[in-house]
Amino acid sequence: MSELSLAGLTVLIREDLNVPISDGTIVSDARILAAVATIEQALSAGAGVLVMSHLGRPGEGKFEAGYTLAPVAKRLQELLGKDVPLLSDLNGAKVKPGSVALLENVRFLTGEKANSDELAQRFARLCDVFVMDAFATAHRAHASTHGVAKFAGVACAGPLLSRELVALEQALRQPAAPMVAIVGGAKVSTKLEVLHVLADMAEHIIVGGGIANTFIAAAGYSVGQSLYEPDLVGVARAIAAKVEIPLPVDVMVGKRFAADEIAVLKTLEDIEPDDMIMDVGPETGRRFAALAMDAATILWNGPLGVFEFDQFGEGTRVLAEAIAASDGFSIAGGGDTLAAIEKYGIQKGISYLSTGGGAFLEFVQGKSLPAVAILEERAAG
Ligand code: AMP
Repeated sequence: MSELSLAGLTVLIREDLNVPISDGTIVSDARILAAVATIEQALSAGAGVLVMSHLGRPGEGKFEAGYTLAPVAKRLQELLGKDVPLLSDLNGAKVKPGSVALLENVRFLTGEKANSDELAQRFARLCDVFVMDAFATAHRAHASTHGVAKFAGVACAGPLLSRELVALEQALRQPAAPMVAIVGGAKVSTKLEVLHVLADMAEHIIVGGGIANTFIAAAGYSVGQSLYEPDLVGVARAIAAKVEIPLPVDVMVGKRFAADEIAVLKTLEDIEPDDMIMDVGPETGRRFAALAMDAATILWNGPLGVFEFDQFGEGTRVLAEAIAASDGFSIAGGGDTLAAIEKYGIQKGISYLSTGGGAFLEFVQGKSLPAVAILEERAAG
């Protein structure tokens, strides 16, 4: 985008404004702050700017009040110091040079997730230049990330996306050994797939959350009511045969998934049918932290436990502090991982923070990101 002359043109920028919102209040505006710089750059170049983003996972084809971008439009307005109307109808979406508007949640529109050509063409007709600036959504071929780039007169990368791609590429070109990959969190099926690839790259793999629970089940222990993926126990077994994945030696369990649930320390042999494993225990935390301390390269995506509840956050905290204290080069990515890093105040100790979760993991595996690939195709003519 920085290389184009934008004066007098309408620029449609795909940002990632998928911020956590609780009761209509934005919990963290980090993603909005990051996008503001791109929007201001286009405005000061003399463009009229339309911004679009998704928010959460609403049902497609209808408006859902819980997923409106209205709070984001309001925050953008405060940060930019100018009016930011929220446009729910694509038909009337127009902006004058120097002004900006936000399109309502693109996931309300039929065809967004299916990457329909019809919707992509409607987006493309709104603008002279399409700017893809949302790294965290670049692994998805949706109408607002990929389709629109096929049809817009000009399609290019925005500064946030460019910076992220360059930084990750530099970091991963020749990673120093030993590498420790840490994969935790709740999205078990997508992340198990990643482990296959990481098993060939990393000397050690640490798993946490629902992924760890699936490995615990694969080792023959009962996991009670814990989050895990019973259908993928076989896959976990195959990965564990390829690379050594240390199982927790102690875990913190509860009976209910609740902020006031008391955390009880147990060994894997003592898990009862109504227990939920929600964190690793202190001995496991120490062992995982020692692995991280000795690593030359650390890749981290996903918490070790339900860190939103303090009593189930100790494993994540101890590991996070070890990563921050390690002399190795560390890269962390993903919304929840960044939230944990923020919670434990260790931002300064991480060498590179990626905004992407899924996109970060796909990049790490060397997969091409569809929304980036289409820009490269367009640039190649
Ligand atoms: P992800 O989006 O895959 O990075 O998952 C992050 C979420 O996983 C966080 O909200 C955690 O609370 C949740 N999580 C981590 N460990 C567990 C666990 N053992 N059981 C249930 N949820 C977990």
